[in-house]
Parts: sequence; C-alpha cells; structure tokens
Amino acid sequence: MKKLCTIAAGLLVLTACAQKHQKEGTARQEPTTITWIEDKPGPALQPHTLYPEVPDSLWDALGLHEGVPTSMSCFLLRTEGKTILLDAGLGAPFSQLMPKLTEQGVTPEELRLIYLTHLHPDHIGGLLKDGQAVFPKAEVYVNRVEAEAWLAMEGDRSKLAKSVLQAYNSRLHLFEAGDTLEGGVVSLAAYGHTPGHTVFQKDSILVIADLVHGAALQLEHPEYCPTYDMDPDAARASRLRLLQYARKNHLTMYGMHLPAPGSIKPARP
Ligand SMILES: [Zn+2]
Repeated sequence: MKKLCTIAAGLLVLTACAQKHQKEGTARQEPTTITWIEDKPGPALQPHTLYPEVPDSLWDALGLHEGVPTSMSCFLLRTEGKTILLDAGLGAPFSQLMPKLTEQGVTPEELRLIYLTHLHPDHIGGLLKDGQAVFPKAEVYVNRVEAEAWLAMEGDRSKLAKSVLQAYNSRLHLFEAGDTLEGGVVSLAAYGHTPGHTVFQKDSILVIADLVHGAALQLEHPEYCPTYDMDPDAARASRLRLLQYARKNHLTMYGMHLPAPGSIKPARP
C-alpha cells in the first residue's frame, strides 16, 4: 500500500494530511479497546478427529476427553479514533455479529474499516446477505497473497471468498504482509492455515486469527495441526514463530477460535 501522506508532493495534500492528523490527535487520547464478539453462541468443543495425529495417550493426558474448548468469534478494535471490525463471522442464522455490533453502538452503515485475517467461510460469511454487501461503506483490507490464492482456486470451496471479493470490489484494499494499516495496526504474515493467513498487532494486542485453533492442545503442543490447516508444515512454522514472538514481547493473544473470553496471555519464555 502506498502511504499518501508521506509520498504526496503537493502542498495541498500535505496540508490536508496535517489537518487530518490534528483531528486524529485528539481522538488518540482515548485508550485502545478490543471487544470479543462471539459469533456462534455458547461454548463448543472440537473433536479428536480434527487433530488426527494426536495420539490417544496425549489427548487423555491433557484431559481432553470431551474435546478442545473453542468458539467462533471476531473482534471489534477501537483505536486512534477508528472502529475496526476484525473478521465477520459465519453469517449464519444463529450469528451474533449484528446484535453485538448494535450493543457496541455500531451500525452496518457507519462501519468504515474491516480487516480480514483470511478468507475461510467462518470469517467472511457475515460480510454478505443474499449475495449483497452487509457493510455498504466499509473499506475491506485483505492480504494480497490471500486474495490472489482464493481467486486462483477452483471449485466450490472458493465460491464464498470470490463472492465477497466481488461484492466489495470497489472498496477492496490488498495489503502486503508487514504493512501498517489505518489505526496503526500492523499486519504480520502467519501463512499456512491458508495461503495468506495474517495476524494483526496493535501495541500489546495480537489478534492471532486461526494460528491457534485449539488452545488447550496447541499452546503446549504447537506442533499439532488441525485438519483445517491447508499447508500443515507452514502453519506449524508460523505458529511456533509467532507464539515465541508473543511470549517474548508479552503480547495478549486474541483468537477467533479461543474459548471465552477469547483471549489469552502466554507466560514469558
Ligand atoms: Zn476459522
């Protein structure tokens, strides 16, 4: 992405940027907050079959007889005067995204920023209703690698991703891993779960998306992948690297499949 403020040569543009920063300067006084939006209501458990490589003995030793506690969630980040939706849930009849946004005082018409971690259905289903964009004014940010991979994919599994990219086509922004997005949110490559799976960092907040699918298993044993990881070797390497990064920098991790309250602070290494 090009940063207009820094590359623009015209005085007029620079003045406009300065004014914008001044306005944002006031809003920046407000603390950053992140709200857990549990899209699928109620606690849920992942079965052993999701992690076929985990031996029965380990499964039992970890006390996972009933399954791994999980959720289907997204997050609302407020920072630097901006309100940012991170993923959009399933868009299923039971989905709680809309009522929870209302609780937060956010209407679909007002929401301006949506950052997507990846294009699996449980993260983008809530962006469409009857094939139409649910958020008529939102700018949607997707990692370029992720968007291109799903656009090139054949068959039914890429249908929803393609429909979402199409519906938001005029407001779609493809970023590169490492880019800083509006609100000072940094995108970090966490490839493997999907080709361009991305996590987002704002200060001590690390939104890990599906990097950790089953915390009760994978925090201790990050080497095990759920069958959802499209490239298990890459997913494992990303998980090991970013868990170490989170621990070293004492970041709180917010995950789309972590059980209530949707976040976890790993112990320092
Ligand atoms: Zn997911």
